[in-house]
Formats: sequence, C-alpha cells, structure tokens
Amino acid sequence: MKKWNLIVDVANCSNCNNCAMAVKDEYEGNVFPGYSLPQPRHGHHWVNILSRERGSGSLMDAAYLPTTCNQCDDAPCVAAATNGALYKRPDGIVMIDPARSKGQKQLVDACPYGHIWWNEELSVPQKYSFDAHLLDKGWKEPRISQVCASGCLSVVKCEDEEMLAKAKAEQLEGLRPELGTKPRVWYKNLYRFTKEHIASSVATVIGGLEEACVEAEVKLVRQGSVVAEQATNCFGDFKFDGLEPDSGEYAVRIKWRTIEKEFPLVLQKSVNLGVLRFES
Ligand code: SF4
Ligand code: SF4
Repeated sequence: MKKWNLIVDVANCSNCNNCAMAVKDEYEGNVFPGYSLPQPRHGHHWVNILSRERGSGSLMDAAYLPTTCNQCDDAPCVAAATNGALYKRPDGIVMIDPARSKGQKQLVDACPYGHIWWNEELSVPQKYSFDAHLLDKGWKEPRISQVCASGCLSVVKCEDEEMLAKAKAEQLEGLRPELGTKPRVWYKNLYRFTKEHIASSVATVIGGLEEACVEAEVKLVRQGSVVAEQATNCFGDFKFDGLEPDSGEYAVRIKWRTIEKEFPLVLQKSVNLGVLRFES
C-alpha cells in the first residue's frame, strides 16, 4: 500500500509562513464532517515554523524548521486514545475523529512533539490531518506543499521500502528518533538546525590595508587527526559545519603561503573565531 510522506528541506525554508497560513485558511471556521471541526482563530499552530540563529558576526546564520504532526507509524497519541478517537489510516495519515475525541484532553500531552492542540470552545483535541479531506477528493498533494514556493516542502506517496531507500540515499531523518515513533515527516539538511559550526576569517595586511587570505588551507583537527579540510573563500572565510554540540576540544590549523598556525578551541555551540591575522 502506498503511503504519504512529507519531505522538509531545512536549507530551503525562508520562513515565509505560506504553509501555516494555508492551514489557517483551510481550517479556521470550516467543518469537514468526519474529518475535523473548525480551528480556533488564535492559539493553534498546526504548522509551526521554529527558528534558530547560530554563530556571530558576519558568519552568523539562521535556519527555519517547519514542524507539524509527524503522522507517526508508532504514534503514542493513538495508543493514549480511548474509544478509537485517534487512528491510523492505511495511507499513513493519523486522524483525530472529531466526535469520538470529544472531552479527551489527555491526548494533548500524549504527543511528544507538542502537535496536538486543545480547542477549549469545542472541547476537542486537534492537529494537522495532512489535508486528508482534500486528498480523498483527488488532490495530488496537501495545501502546505502546494503553496511552498521555495521547494522546502514536498510530498511523496510510495511504498515504505521505497521511502526508506530514498531516506537512506538522500540522508533524510525524522525528528527525535530516540522516541521510536517512526515519523512520516522526513528532514533534509537538519544539521542547519541541530548541529554547530566553527567559522572564521583569515586576513593579512598589505600596504597598511587588511586583505583577505584567499584559498588558505584550513584543517579541522580533533584528537590529533584531521577530520575535515577546506580552503578559504574569496572573503578569506571558512566554516566547518555539522559538528556535535558540546563536542569538546578541536584545533583549527591554517596554512597561508609558507606560514602555518594552529588555533585550539573547545566547542560548545557555534563559534566565530573572529579575524585570524597572518603577516604578509
Ligand atoms: S511555505 Fe515553505 S518556505 Fe515558507 S515557511 Fe512554509 S516551509 Fe518554509
Ligand atoms: S506527531 Fe504527535 S500527534 Fe502526530 S502522530 Fe506523532 S504522536 Fe500523534
């Protein structure tokens, strides 16, 4: 049986919030019998864009992480529901039955991702249903991917084996795999949000003016071994990314022309070492 999957490329999210607005437009004030009751105007974020800044100065970067119900295959919310209020469809979508779930506020805490929201006025738990009511009418994709112009969101409907092979080939990963929930939302370039970097600029002084050291050789050394290397760019900058937070001692070894220097550091979170100067 082919099942739905959502692929999120963190490197392509511009935080435009079109996806979140499409959900608001679709569900606020609208009843879809058998699928969902209206979303309240305020307080619910069925698609929630998180943001994170890393580093500092000119080498600082920002990443945005679209989050929503992961349509988990081993969903704790389904296990916590009574009366069949939450259930998994054969196409992979996890649904909340609006009638059976009435009064079941405990389901809000059953989602470890914080993606079940309580509708106080209607006394029901609610979440994003992947626009199941539209897909059942023949839509080729949910509105969130349809409105995402940057290419951050895309959907794939395929057999599980095919999706697992794709995830392996494209290095896709789910959020918080330690929970064992088997999410159907897959992230690409998640390191932009979860990992750290070491960055710096290399410069020299020529004729009294500071100049970038272009194509200086830069090596990242850990426990005596080179773990990554690159050359400075046209601004004299380098950035080693995808490093574990709080991963301890490193050294940055830089060779420019005949001069070689080493800069030790202890990595906690992303760091800009500032301008490292070499004599010309
Ligand atoms: S529409 Fe796409 S680019 Fe815009 S916030 Fe949503 S996921 Fe990010
Ligand atoms: S993300 Fe939360 S609400 Fe969605 S299926 Fe998983 S446990 Fe349930």
